[in-house]
Amino acid sequence: VRIAAAVVEAPGADPAVVHLDLRDPGPTEVLVRVRAAGVCHSDVAYARGDLEQGLPFPVVLGHETAGVVEAAGRGVRSLAVGDHVVVALTQHCGHCRMCELGTPMLCLHRRVPPGALSRDGEDVYAFAGGGFAEAALVDEASLVQVPKDVPFDVAAILGCAVATGLGAVRNIAQIQWGETAMVIGLGGVGLSAVLGAVVAGCSRVVAVDVDERRRAAALALGATDAVPPGEALGPVLEPGGFDQVIEAAGRVEAMQLAVAACRRGGTVTLVGLPHRDAVLTLPAADFVVSQRRLLGCVTGNVRPAVDLPDYVRLYQAGRLPLDSLVTSHLPLSDVSEAFRRCAAGEGVRTILTNP
Ligand SMILES: [Zn+2]
Ligand SMILES: [Zn+2]
Repeated sequence: VRIAAAVVEAPGADPAVVHLDLRDPGPTEVLVRVRAAGVCHSDVAYARGDLEQGLPFPVVLGHETAGVVEAAGRGVRSLAVGDHVVVALTQHCGHCRMCELGTPMLCLHRRVPPGALSRDGEDVYAFAGGGFAEAALVDEASLVQVPKDVPFDVAAILGCAVATGLGAVRNIAQIQWGETAMVIGLGGVGLSAVLGAVVAGCSRVVAVDVDERRRAAALALGATDAVPPGEALGPVLEPGGFDQVIEAAGRVEAMQLAVAACRRGGTVTLVGLPHRDAVLTLPAADFVVSQRRLLGCVTGNVRPAVDLPDYVRLYQAGRLPLDSLVTSHLPLSDVSEAFRRCAAGEGVRTILTNP
């Protein structure tokens, strides 16, 4: 089928909507009519060329996608035409060593539908499905059905921001109720981590960001304190350090602050994606004798079929006010403006929509 899609031609180029060919689904693939796709900092970083080297261009970005099943391959067993789905960005196979260890984001044999998108016979890469388009081709393994009364914009952010922030709390940090927590960097991921710490029963959730509106958002979501980095931090720090610190800014200084603010024997979880050339340095002797744990975290180690339905149920029970993370909607044709808002840190999530 012929679809409109936002293509980034080369590193540093603005995304522009053009027409592409999307092939029919293979046996285990599903054609998803995209209704909503969130713009994440990783999309902006990919387009700028800030992520790892050698990523393919031209590319259709968009890894926070929700929509409706329009067609399914003959081997698809769990979904039917008309089902509402969220695209998990794992693209995992489900049966390699990493998948069976419960770490599908580390899958050794990703199922990226080959040659899904093309223009005049030339391949156009679809990153994690390529949600900045009218439709996307996704392997069944990366799709999770969501109830039809969940709004498409909320379903979309489950795919990255919510999965990453809540998963950092649930799957990586494994926060226990009563613990004290600090979250640094309050974008979609950081605010989701605040939500996770609140749901997990933390006795304190201290949220840190330079942006006053984001701090206000964190307080509205249940953070006990919200302060900018720097001098204002002093009065809200835990005297012996926090049990748990989650860094969601993707900046080396924020990571160093995270380690310094963590108690001896506590846990630091790094979830913000830094520039590919960034190097983290730490006082080595202090790190060793402090017995802190420093953990990396990609997409909250999301296990799509386990975590996403649980988050949907928490949302439906009124325990996860995810609607407040969606701060603006734009049609797909305004993709450049959506990228600008994301890069400028305006609002939390801008959602690109298709009618
Ligand atoms: Zn993302
Ligand atoms: Zn796998």
